[in-house]
Amino acid sequence: MPDIAVYPGSFDPITNGHLDLIQRALKIFDRIIVAVATNAFKKSLFTIEERMEMCRVSLADYPTVSVDTFDGLLVKYATGQKARAILRGLRAVTDFEYEFQLAMMNRRLEPELETVFLMTGLRWVFLSSSILKEAAVHGGDIAGMVPEIVFQKLREKFGLLK
Ligand code: ADP
Repeated sequence: MPDIAVYPGSFDPITNGHLDLIQRALKIFDRIIVAVATNAFKKSLFTIEERMEMCRVSLADYPTVSVDTFDGLLVKYATGQKARAILRGLRAVTDFEYEFQLAMMNRRLEPELETVFLMTGLRWVFLSSSILKEAAVHGGDIAGMVPEIVFQKLREKFGLLK
């Protein structure tokens, strides 16, 4: 049985921080499923199709990483995929409280499924999709923080970035 991890998130859009985390997780797991949430409660900049497409293109060089979408309960989705763990990233202490609550809720819902946290590389500690979008809207130079496909998509949406 391969060790599978489900990496859930909005990925609105995927950043180099997410990629860093996936590369680290590949040292531990045989397969990673990037599970893009349809997000009933969160308004996203990109549609689910756009978010998945950007993930797919950015991860094309990783044959053991696949991209999927899910709605409803994450633990149900993850057990359906025969995942051994849920993967989440920690940047700063500020992530901890929310991630802790989420992991505890998921454990309560599905006691057999563990959540594994990895620390992102120092370069990406400050990077979140929301801060990135904020910079992009105002024409900030976000090259080097996102995969090429995401840079192009943001450029299409917000015009020329400086
Ligand atoms: P969500 O809406 O579920 O928070 P995100 O796409 O923002 O979805 O994040 C998905 C996961 O990736 C979360 O565990 C988050 O902490 C992690 N993550 C986000 N940005 C980074 C980063 N720069 N480095 C490492 N992990 C990150």
